[in-house]
Amino acid sequence: MPAFDVQQFRQQFAFFQQQPDWVYLDNAATMHKPQAVIDAVTQFYQRHNSNVHRGAHQLSQQATMLFEQARTSVAAYVNAAHSDEIIFTSGATAALNQIAFGLMHTVLKPGDRILLTQLEHHANIVPWQLHCQRHGVIIDVVPLTPQHTVDLVAYQKLLALKPKVVSFSHISNVLGHIQPVAQMVAQAKAAGAITMIDGAQGAVYQQPDVQQLDCDFYVFSGHKLYGPTGIGVLYGKTQWLEQLTPVFAGGEMIDTVSFVNTTFNKLPFRLEAGTPNIAGAIGLSAAISWLQKYNTEQIQQHKSLLLKEFYSGLQAIKAIDILSMPVHNAGIVALNVAGEHPADVAELLNQQQVAVRSGQHCAMPLFSYLAQQGAVRCSFAAYNTLDDVNRCLLALEQAVEILTA
Ligand code: PMP
Repeated sequence: MPAFDVQQFRQQFAFFQQQPDWVYLDNAATMHKPQAVIDAVTQFYQRHNSNVHRGAHQLSQQATMLFEQARTSVAAYVNAAHSDEIIFTSGATAALNQIAFGLMHTVLKPGDRILLTQLEHHANIVPWQLHCQRHGVIIDVVPLTPQHTVDLVAYQKLLALKPKVVSFSHISNVLGHIQPVAQMVAQAKAAGAITMIDGAQGAVYQQPDVQQLDCDFYVFSGHKLYGPTGIGVLYGKTQWLEQLTPVFAGGEMIDTVSFVNTTFNKLPFRLEAGTPNIAGAIGLSAAISWLQKYNTEQIQQHKSLLLKEFYSGLQAIKAIDILSMPVHNAGIVALNVAGEHPADVAELLNQQQVAVRSGQHCAMPLFSYLAQQGAVRCSFAAYNTLDDVNRCLLALEQAVEILTA
């Protein structure tokens, strides 16, 4: 297989031409957008701008067609059985809130259990917690192994408690570890649970096949998949989407309304109240079409090479504690400089124009478990180069020198 041409890939991003001095390693927070996405969004506003599903005129019909084509392209990306199983939301957070709220009002009963893992993002903890107390539902948490991966032995034991819902991330946004999601779904299903995968980091690393995974829900955000902000995806099997109580109500999602009663529209509209993010959906679809021109395996190999170089460089710098494993890692490395605050390290990197994130990365329970105040997170994307790796290592070396002087 020919090697991945990173320079050709990188040229698609105006950002790197406009800001050539920056090393951008904050990709787990959000990705840069290729020109194809920026053009698709601009063209929508310039040529087709109209509201969807309700206009009598041709412009609205065109906008509706583009919006529904976007749904079809997302459905194909995740291999959903039907495009009605794709609900557009404002992001993974909104999707998770919809699922937690929806199930809590229908499926879950007092005394039921929900199983999460220790490394979840707050978006896969707090929405459940908000309702659990009120509805008498109990949350159990799968602990981690010494390598900071989900402890699958403990998982199996907790499944014996027969949770109604099991919800976990595909890839940890802090550590980058790729979870064995297919196995975890199969075990959860064997225990009779509804399964939910938080694919905010997973959907970009690999194209999820929801039918093969056989998960009941899979969610992600467009902006972490080279798409625009403000658009996200809630995939659900029809059987479960139909049971979700809508978190938002208003236009679009109804069939008939009177002051006495409302009847609801069919899927997917029942869960998409109000004017959707039309340009966002079109931009996400453009991101998917653009990304599919590249070979995922080649991209993964390129990122593995970056990771390998980064790890070997890190090992040569004294005082660096690495929290992430180098294997089964999607390209996210959490680290600390011993005894130093991660915010100080990140600020010194910022001064060298190396963009990373520091703190607890919306995963406070993980950091309590790790007994760390936080971490510096370096997250790589396909457009990063070996030069980016070397500049980050150099900046880290200098940061260590300054902090430990
Ligand atoms: N889950 C994970 C694993 C994430 O990394 C993120 C984003 N950091 C989210 C959920 C929430 O995504 P968003 O903020 O785009 O809704």
